[in-house]
Amino acid sequence: MSLCPACDAPLRSGLPAWHLTCTACSYEGSSLQPHILEQATGGDLDEASRHDGLAALRQANFARLLERLASTVSRKDGAVPRLLDVGCAHGWFMEAASGRFDVVGIEPDSAVAEATRARGLSVRGGFFPDVLEGDETFDVIVFNDVLEHIPDVNATLRACHDHLVPGGWVVVNAPSRKGFLYRLSKLLARVGMAGSFERMWQLGFPSPHVHYFDTDSIERLGRRSRFELASRMSLPSVAVRGLYSRIRYSRDVPVAKAAALATAVTVARPLLAVLPPDIEVWLLRKA
Ligand SMILES: [Zn+2]
Repeated sequence: MSLCPACDAPLRSGLPAWHLTCTACSYEGSSLQPHILEQATGGDLDEASRHDGLAALRQANFARLLERLASTVSRKDGAVPRLLDVGCAHGWFMEAASGRFDVVGIEPDSAVAEATRARGLSVRGGFFPDVLEGDETFDVIVFNDVLEHIPDVNATLRACHDHLVPGGWVVVNAPSRKGFLYRLSKLLARVGMAGSFERMWQLGFPSPHVHYFDTDSIERLGRRSRFELASRMSLPSVAVRGLYSRIRYSRDVPVAKAAALATAVTVARPLLAVLPPDIEVWLLRKA
């Protein structure tokens, strides 16, 4: 029997069996196994997609997030704050952040890391925190669509504590279990239509979701590694982009179907804007 990473209570299997919910708190997880090391290098993420319209949405949201970080993260000595981007992929967030922060990225896919490095960005190939020096510290560590893929989330947050300056920040940008699309997919799964629920968890992907966080579970997880939840924000339109990516990057969805779904999602966007946000950003501060 596995235990809840947020509160240590037993987890129970949901429907389907790989879906886990805590018997005591709001945490949701999965027993899905990442296969990222078996994935062909070069990955599923296509650098060419930078030029599609939905990538522009993602860039806009990175800009929004960076506005918040610029007004939140500072250094007493007035120096440029140091930012670590864990799972930086093609370095889009690093590029956006580089005017305001001294930026370092970590990327496990060696081909992607190499390509991003070739564009002049400081990227280390490998995993967090293994590729850091033991005494290396940052002012802020960012996980953009990354923390929900990491099985041992407590070890990762402890490592963040070790590699942050006093008063440093962890930024968790992740899908929310309270989001409208996630709740809708759960409802559909209960009546026998599991497709969108499986897609939300990225079932069958090289690196599926192993957690679905909300504010309560993030707060509990943060406290375990001596962080306090200082603020949060939502990025509603990324849900559209995220859904599209989940469609687009799945090799088994035909292009025509992916395009039709993306169009439907785009049409639904104004409605999604007034519903519970599917993407939240939590800012945890080292005590
Ligand atoms: Zn729990």
